[in-house]
Amino acid sequence: MSDSAVQDRSSVFIDGAWVEPHGTETVVLTDPATGERLASIALGDEVDAQLAVAAASRAQPAWAARGAQERIELIQRIRELLEADRDDLAETITREVGTPPAISKAVQVGLPINVTRSFEQIAAETASAEPARIGSSLVRRAPVGVVAAITPWNYPLHQVIAKIVPALLAGCTVVLKPSELAPLTSLRLADYAERVGLPAGVLNVVPGRGTTVGRALTAHPDVDMVSFTGSTAAGRDVAAAAAATIKRVSLELGGKSASVLLPDADLPVAVRKSLQQGFLNSGQTCTAWTRMIVPRELQADVEALCREFVPAIETRLGPLISETQWQRVQDYIDLGESEGARLVVGGPGKPEGRETGLYTRATVFADVAPTMRIATEEIFGPVVVIQAYDSVDEAVALANSTVYGLAGGVWGSDLEQAVDVASRLQTGQVDVNGAGFNHLAPMGGFKQSGVGRELGEHGYAEYFELSSIQLPETGQ
Ligand code: NDP
Repeated sequence: MSDSAVQDRSSVFIDGAWVEPHGTETVVLTDPATGERLASIALGDEVDAQLAVAAASRAQPAWAARGAQERIELIQRIRELLEADRDDLAETITREVGTPPAISKAVQVGLPINVTRSFEQIAAETASAEPARIGSSLVRRAPVGVVAAITPWNYPLHQVIAKIVPALLAGCTVVLKPSELAPLTSLRLADYAERVGLPAGVLNVVPGRGTTVGRALTAHPDVDMVSFTGSTAAGRDVAAAAAATIKRVSLELGGKSASVLLPDADLPVAVRKSLQQGFLNSGQTCTAWTRMIVPRELQADVEALCREFVPAIETRLGPLISETQWQRVQDYIDLGESEGARLVVGGPGKPEGRETGLYTRATVFADVAPTMRIATEEIFGPVVVIQAYDSVDEAVALANSTVYGLAGGVWGSDLEQAVDVASRLQTGQVDVNGAGFNHLAPMGGFKQSGVGRELGEHGYAEYFELSSIQLPETGQ
């Protein structure tokens, strides 16, 4: 057990040491599939947040002064530990969040390992190209400074890696506040930081509540940037608190993404893949395609395909993370029915034979007007709505009709038309005909889905300030 990420933790990681927190609260994590106790975790409070920021501020100048190569080597060693512990980390996330084992291995752990490797390469390439020359100016990149990383529970390792790896490689120091619902892999990262000899204060990990640790970090004058992933409501709070000291803010927020099926789409493939993407991680995915926009004349066929595919997909879904989340999804299913939408498949309650854990039925609604709350609000559970259109322009308008703009899909045999429709969607990422996720491409939101981009060179650039040094004409 001592080698597993699943263990009780009574301390937080500040200034290179495991210390008893000033905060007195602990949370007990339970496995959402069984209700079994997993671990008890000590939470920090505002004082711990302040101590962590002070440590990160002290450590930042020396960390920035190290060569990029030295930082890359330390991150590489952390990545090697992630690789060595891949199976344990995947199992930990399965038990903590409920993600089925295969997806846990590939997405929850495999993806952040690949993302780490890609940032190592980007950091090396960027360092060799510095400083850039633009006319008479030298353009130098300087690390932003102290970064507060605040992350959610749905992809607990990936969301953290997408922030702390580019921040650390850029020469920033970090205070990480993971969600207290899924802090185990963040605490494991602190173990790795200690093992590879990351200098004290460069990475601090303080689990705690958003309303205490999160708010203290966001408002702290010595935090230069807040990189936040979570709900749009909390993101609004973060942006407002950060405004007092004009911090840089990066927000990766919610979504209500659309999969647009054009009339010439391969219907069975488009419907099956759209459902799989909509239900990924039991719908607890910010980029989930929770709306299927379909030609009206094909709606009956789409519904028949949903009835055919959903039962098999449902058996492969994990539970929802918490009672609160389970109840929230039930409330939305009830709301859909009371708003007048028609259940195509699924509905309230638990799937047959899965009454013990926090499982919920994979649900599809049709006859969903664009103004209904189930069409506009993020449910964060396995609920997909079908919306019918009469023209491609209407399909685009429907896809763009929410306050969100995070992801989406377009399906059609005429690739040129599909790409044209994709480029009309006001959203940060669109997959054409099921093309796979590219972790080198920028990821982030239009509209209320966020500000800024993560991943790849664009994600790396977020952690730098630019300084232009104008040089005198030669001979002056
Ligand atoms: P929340 O917004 O509730 O929480 C996210 C994190 O922010 C948690 O660590 C939380 O702490 C903290 N927090 C909450 N309120 C504040 C505050 N006022 N100030 C500072 N920190 C705060 O989201 P969930 O954890 O419930 O995650 C689900 C949401 O995240 C969904 O809406 C989803 O769309 C979004 N998300 C977006 C992604 C993206 O890339 N765009 C990716 C993944 C999820 P605490 O744990 O105490 O609540």
